[in-house]
Amino acid sequence: MSKYSKVAHYQDFSELESILESSNNNYDMDKIRKAYKFAEKSHGDQRRESGIPYILHPTSVACIVAELGMDTDSICSALLHDVVEDTPVTFQEVEKLFGQDVANLIDGVTKISKIPYSTREQQQAENIRKMLIAMANDIRVIIIKLADRLHNMRTMDCMPEQHCRDKSHENMQVFAPIAHRLGIKTIKDELEDRSLQYLDPIGYKEIEDTLLLTEEGRDKFVESIKKNLLDKTEGMIPNVYISGRVKSINSIYRKTFMQGRTLEQIYDVFAVRVIVDTVRDCYNVLGIVHDIFKPIPNRFKDYISMPKPNMYQSLHTTVLDKNAIPFEVQIRTWEMHYTAEYGIAAHWKYKLGMGSDKTGGDRLTENIQKVKKMIMDQLEAEDVTDIAKNIRNDFAENDVYVFSPKGDVFNLPQGSTPIDMAYLIHTQVGHRMIGAKISGKIVPIDYKLKTGDICEIITQKDEHPNKAWIDICKTASAKSKIRQWYKHEKRDENIVEGKQMLEREFKRNGINLNEYEYEEFFRKMLLKKQYGTIDDFYAAVGYGGVQLWKIMPRLKEEYQKTYAADIEKIEVPQAPVKRNKATSGVVIEGTDDVLVKFSNCCNPLPGDDIIGYITRGYGVSIHKRSCTNVPKDILKSEEPERWVNCYWEDGVGEAFRSTLQITAIDRTGLLADVTIKLSNMHIFIHSLNSRETGDGKAVVTATIDVMGKNHLRGVLSKLSDINGIEEIKRV
Ligand code: MN
Repeated sequence: MSKYSKVAHYQDFSELESILESSNNNYDMDKIRKAYKFAEKSHGDQRRESGIPYILHPTSVACIVAELGMDTDSICSALLHDVVEDTPVTFQEVEKLFGQDVANLIDGVTKISKIPYSTREQQQAENIRKMLIAMANDIRVIIIKLADRLHNMRTMDCMPEQHCRDKSHENMQVFAPIAHRLGIKTIKDELEDRSLQYLDPIGYKEIEDTLLLTEEGRDKFVESIKKNLLDKTEGMIPNVYISGRVKSINSIYRKTFMQGRTLEQIYDVFAVRVIVDTVRDCYNVLGIVHDIFKPIPNRFKDYISMPKPNMYQSLHTTVLDKNAIPFEVQIRTWEMHYTAEYGIAAHWKYKLGMGSDKTGGDRLTENIQKVKKMIMDQLEAEDVTDIAKNIRNDFAENDVYVFSPKGDVFNLPQGSTPIDMAYLIHTQVGHRMIGAKISGKIVPIDYKLKTGDICEIITQKDEHPNKAWIDICKTASAKSKIRQWYKHEKRDENIVEGKQMLEREFKRNGINLNEYEYEEFFRKMLLKKQYGTIDDFYAAVGYGGVQLWKIMPRLKEEYQKTYAADIEKIEVPQAPVKRNKATSGVVIEGTDDVLVKFSNCCNPLPGDDIIGYITRGYGVSIHKRSCTNVPKDILKSEEPERWVNCYWEDGVGEAFRSTLQITAIDRTGLLADVTIKLSNMHIFIHSLNSRETGDGKAVVTATIDVMGKNHLRGVLSKLSDINGIEEIKRV
């Protein structure tokens, strides 16, 4: 017999009553009965696809919700979950009759039922999950919705095949993962297994048959393990409860069909579950298990000290029996067991007092009272709404999830407007937007989007964005796209302005070209750049996309190479000698093609810590970080944006000027010794002079060329060999 038979399964109100009666919870039975009567009357003659009276669907959903141990309002809402959607009953009526809580729960379920799940993409599934959680202000809404989905799966077989497969896909991608996140294993497993039946009936059957064939052997195996364990714990650990457990068909399916393993290769196809009273007992049982059976290395997991995000706690270990058959042992307390099966729903269960539980049988009922008090005490500190809030935060952060009318979900930051949505869909949709509708109604353009909104962007050909939108929209990308459009749109003005700016700068730099040369010059330059025409280039200069101070050095260099050998004359007096961009050996952060010169105030050398200063029109001048002309705190300096980070290129091969101050005991021939030493090292000397200091010492100042910091270090060491030298300083 199939574990999850496809034969439609319905539960009527009397079954709901018996579930509620057999539980220890305090339910408001009058309210629940009233909700049932109201639902029955409202659905009237309505029937399910299969011809079954409609009311049996809500009563069945209410049974699932009741079995999870949920509260009176959840059960009433389950009974009434389809009345607002499918009958003439209004939200206000429900609110009047059953209170705001029930009305809000029903409203929440109705809202998330309207979400169109059109897409199959992984990313979209993730967004839809997040959106569902974000939309449900109350986590009970999700639990009722899960029960609704589950019951629809239990009664799916009369529906067309495509419908079944679509719903099954949604379950796999959206609802089962949510159930997993909420820790409601019972619903997760059944949703997945029932969905798999429709998605791969043959694969499902194969696993199911294998499990059935091996069932008897498995039962015997579990019995022998059980006996062994009970013998060893006897008198040491009280109330040890042991059961065998088979993995869900879907999880076996994932490990066999999708990971290419055989049933025998999966250690935890079945497991032995040990439930005890206290956490300490858990670890004691673990010790005994490892004593009797040989543990498989690296298969022990302590989810007690490190619970899973969905609150799951247990000790897991895989061991070998005497015939070397591997099996998993799960060890947990009763509290952990309830949380493992019912997840967040277990917390309502505890709040109300424990319900009956079929999986544990009589032994379980025995334990209920004992465990109940313990759990009640523990949970007093922990408010279920806090847990729910954490889960919601986990899922939704601060984003909003908005639908397009086609059903695609868009993820936007809180505070986004339809403008942001339009630009997220497509730049052209943004540019042509003239308005927006939310759920069919026109909204102002600065409307703040909410999760679950279905937002339709109204566009018109030949329309263009409004500049005021830049301040209205939220996302940086929408803002920049609007700006971009304006740059493009104001092209004519930009061209005129760019041309004028360039002409001015040419004049200032002494670049003189006749019309033919001018065109030729730019044709050559533009080949290397992304600009198709000279007008494109002007426009870029005009709106600031190209900054003249960045490109002028390059243009000048090009001009010099091509037309004027004597450009040097026009350059500013402090212009660097021999050092241009190509050989400077300095990388300027964020720019290239920039003229680099070395400041005369500190003569930086390769290896020195340096910084660049963007001069007005003459490239970047490089200073030592320690130079007195570099502000101590650049951010607080007058023009912080002019200071740029720069680094030495590897393997700089150019000579650098360096000034040394040599202090020595004054003697005849000192200057000559210095000169000879430097000459022997083939050092080029720019200047050399000496002065007496009056205390029998002399200071020699030498300005020389060195090939970098290491070279300088060598020079200094050679110089210090000279007789009477006391100190050599770089200045
Ligand atoms: Mn329903």
